[in-house]
Amino acid sequence: MAPSNPLRELPSVDELAGSPGLEALVELHGRPLVVAAARVALERAREDVKAGFPAGDLVARTAGEVEARQRPSLQRVLNATGVVVHTNLGRAPLAEAALARVHEIAVGYSNLEYDVEAGSRGSRQDHVAALLRELTGAEAALVVNNNAAAVLLALAALAERREVIVSRGELIEIGDGFRIPDVLARSGALLVEVGTTNRTRLADYERAVGDRTTVLLRVHQSNFRLVGFTEQPRARDLARLADRHGLALVEDLGSGALVETADEPTVAASIEAGAHVVTFSGDKLLGGPQAGIAVGRADLIERMRRHPLQRALRPDKLTLAALEGTLALYQAGADQVPVLRMLTESDEAVRARAERLAELTGGTVEVTTARPGGGALPVTEIASYACALPVELAEPLRRGEPAVIGIVREGTLLLDCRTLVDAEVEEAAAAVRAARG
Ligand SMILES: *Cc1c(COP(=O)(O)O)cnc(C)c1O
Repeated sequence: MAPSNPLRELPSVDELAGSPGLEALVELHGRPLVVAAARVALERAREDVKAGFPAGDLVARTAGEVEARQRPSLQRVLNATGVVVHTNLGRAPLAEAALARVHEIAVGYSNLEYDVEAGSRGSRQDHVAALLRELTGAEAALVVNNNAAAVLLALAALAERREVIVSRGELIEIGDGFRIPDVLARSGALLVEVGTTNRTRLADYERAVGDRTTVLLRVHQSNFRLVGFTEQPRARDLARLADRHGLALVEDLGSGALVETADEPTVAASIEAGAHVVTFSGDKLLGGPQAGIAVGRADLIERMRRHPLQRALRPDKLTLAALEGTLALYQAGADQVPVLRMLTESDEAVRARAERLAELTGGTVEVTTARPGGGALPVTEIASYACALPVELAEPLRRGEPAVIGIVREGTLLLDCRTLVDAEVEEAAAAVRAARG
């Protein structure tokens, strides 16, 4: 007798979804969701059967699929990597005060583009401009979606079909394909390269200035450092050169910092040195939401604001609320900004957290090095402490809820405690217990 075809023995989608074992889920989530889950469970089972494996418990498979569909894709994770501004893990965690602003503004209506005093249309750009002027010393400010957009908009608004002079040492790639020459080309500006990778002098810029030149672009070497036989003119000297020739000095600081943070350049220092437009990220060392900020001379910022691209790059109200909430903290003292607090927290406090985690999990304390991350301060190392655990736990911890992301070094899993907060230690310990199964 020919063996029966196991594929034929599989139930239909409707039969499976109607199984008594799934009634409770239909009740809870509705039939369409359970039917969709049953369809996926059956497809998987069919593949298994074709590959010679048993179909397994189809009701359990469907229930698992229902659960997976209920789980949001974007999830909270515990960052135990020691990289403070971790781009893959969402960069800067927001301060509670900034989140409170987001909630307040997003839960109902707001004066996003409404001037309540005049009773007429207002500008979304006005809400954070005053704070940014105060914190940077610039005349005017504009916010867009991210710093890549700020650079693009600055070049499009100030240098379309005109020449932009850039040092060969600054034609860099930031990560995820953001390359300065490409952005320049997209903006419609024409790139004029000067100098060499390691040395560019003021005279190199001066020689390249011509009738069509309109911008000198300076790009902070955020994610690497050139060491040794190197030279770049100071911003102050470039600003003077720009002024002499009626050009704009645009400086892309990348991260930038609003307050002194190791040796990362501050935005205020760039403005003070004479840069005409300075662009930087909202979610790197600033510690706020994803945003790109341009500050500088009022007439140049106004040209950016009027450029048609501005409408496509403008920030939403959630961003503006979070940014305003974060900037307000700088007035009270920047240690309330989570990113800056993590960077400056004492070694002892970090070690105490690692000791507590080790005690709760049976791990050991190890000395590690944390990093600012986010392309800022690439060579800055910060003393830190981790809880060391068996490397086999790395995967189950990653798959747990919440996921715990550590680093693997020399066959050991390290949970760096500089990027955890006290309130997360118990949670991390519970995750380790769950990962051990
Ligand atoms: C990070 C960075 C950017 C891009 O900023 P986003 O906010 O990620 O768009 C641009 N330029 C420099 C120098 C950077 O470091």
